[in-house]
Amino acid sequence: MRFSKAYIPTTKEAPKDAILPSHIYLSRAGFVTQVASGLYNFLPLGKRVMRKIETIIHEEMAACDALEVDLSFVTPAELWQESGRIEKFGKELLRFRDRKENLFVLGPTHEEMMVSIVRNRVTSYKQLPLNVYQVKTKFRDEARPRFGLMRAREFVMKDGYSFHSSTEDLDREFDAMEAAYKRILTRLGLQFRVVEADSGAIGGSGSKELMVLANSGEDTLAVCDSCEYGANIEAAQRSKRITIPEAPKAEFMKFKTPDIKSIEDLSAFFHVDSYYTLKAVVMRAVFADSTQPVCFFIRGCDTLQEVKACNSVGAIDLVEMSVSELTDLGLVAGFMGPLDQDKIRIVMDNDTRNAKAMICGANELDYHFVGVDLSVMGDVSYADLVAVSEGDGCPRCSGKLEYTKGIEVGHIFKLGTTYSAPLKAEYLDENGRSTPFIMGTYGMGVSRLVAAVIEQHHDEKGCIWTHATAPYMVNVMVSNIKEETHLEFATTLYTTLNENKIETILDDRKDRFGFKMSDAELIGFPFTVIVGKEMENDQVQIMVRKSGEMITVATHDVVQKLKELIG
Ligand code: ATP
Ligand code: MG
Repeated sequence: MRFSKAYIPTTKEAPKDAILPSHIYLSRAGFVTQVASGLYNFLPLGKRVMRKIETIIHEEMAACDALEVDLSFVTPAELWQESGRIEKFGKELLRFRDRKENLFVLGPTHEEMMVSIVRNRVTSYKQLPLNVYQVKTKFRDEARPRFGLMRAREFVMKDGYSFHSSTEDLDREFDAMEAAYKRILTRLGLQFRVVEADSGAIGGSGSKELMVLANSGEDTLAVCDSCEYGANIEAAQRSKRITIPEAPKAEFMKFKTPDIKSIEDLSAFFHVDSYYTLKAVVMRAVFADSTQPVCFFIRGCDTLQEVKACNSVGAIDLVEMSVSELTDLGLVAGFMGPLDQDKIRIVMDNDTRNAKAMICGANELDYHFVGVDLSVMGDVSYADLVAVSEGDGCPRCSGKLEYTKGIEVGHIFKLGTTYSAPLKAEYLDENGRSTPFIMGTYGMGVSRLVAAVIEQHHDEKGCIWTHATAPYMVNVMVSNIKEETHLEFATTLYTTLNENKIETILDDRKDRFGFKMSDAELIGFPFTVIVGKEMENDQVQIMVRKSGEMITVATHDVVQKLKELIG
């Protein structure tokens, strides 16, 4: 491609709301343009990058015998009613009626559709396993579309689904998909971590996320400083505490604590480590067609992890409640405790089970109980409710947990019969019994990956594409196209490189050298060959975008040198 014939509208201005490097540079360098909130057009360079990512995905899927399909983007709402997800997905699901008043949704993910294509067609265990996937546009009416391609409303996802006749076979495929996803990200030149993910209300351990490590990541990961353990903060576990502060000595009694409402004030008032205080967090749990206030109790030194709390009651969401709402329920904000609590549903953190020497609210203004033995709680529900902190012990080894940030680019999940059972997608097993398929689902954010590459690889001048994702590997730039011999040499080099299967663009524009250089840096081609002054000595310069290094090479050595650099 010649620059003079290409369509690469670079600009100095970034979109007003852009804060992330990928959003700024992909817009400024002419890879994408924004249509409306969360909607983007891919221009020629953006499309090339996306296609490269897709090609690698297709190659790795073929290596696993996964089969490509292409399902209708417009999905009958009926299928979503059958699975029960129409309510659960809420407003993210864009619904509309056709001219005959039939209700449809724009596919935000395709579990239902994929189940419907095998339902009544795959009928015997002999036809299993099956792994089908597509690379397809998805639409989710995200509450807060932001960060450019990272959280768009319309985006491209690789979504795969596997069908099995045993959990062992699902485990095997899940491991194969994890390995394939790791190969894809390695080939793309990305640093990543596979972490344990929140499995939502379904529970279980079969959910992992592939996280591209980047400071701008929306997800906080807890990773071990000495072993491979890593988990999304929403799912992270910690080892049992080894050092426990000394317990306060007190008989059980009610104590006047005037205006002592916060955990800090409480532990200061009694000179007690907050480990021995009980924190109450009241939230309204939102279900498909109802809501319910819930009080979560955790140790005062801990922090409530909302996703864990949400899962513990099987809710779709948790929303904050005001003090006046609590008062209306007869609750005393700042002084709430679990003893004799019958006004609100309660869930207690696992770490409070049978805890002794505790201080908690007495459900009465200005009073707390001290010397509380929580083993009196009896029949109350317990769950893991707390967020791990940096410095907590790793649940797998003696290492310590630390936080890092990641961009979720993939999510693999053992579904079991979550969709096949309600959708009645069944096959006949070896004994002729009709049984729902055991399923796995494997998603990868293709358009999000375009942005993730830049989040991990950029500098103050612009994009730095990895070799596998670069729209062109080499940019042959003619400093001054009026120099006929230079233009001639550059054109021949450009042709030779392309013949050698090195994707090359020729910057043959009339513009000034400085302007073309800053475009080259902004766009982020891995290598730019500068054909200019050095031609007097039969030399050119190669700018290595990543290091900024300028390498002077004899004109007859350029192709060889580039081959070496590309590796
Ligand atoms: P997130 O927690 O980021 O909202 P999710 O859990 O909703 O992601 P999945 O439903 O598992 O995501 O979708 C599979 C993949 O699709 C994700 O891992 C992510 O890479 C990508 N993806 C999800 N939502 C978006 C979006 N709004 N814009 C771009 N990519 C997305
Ligand atoms: Mg989401």
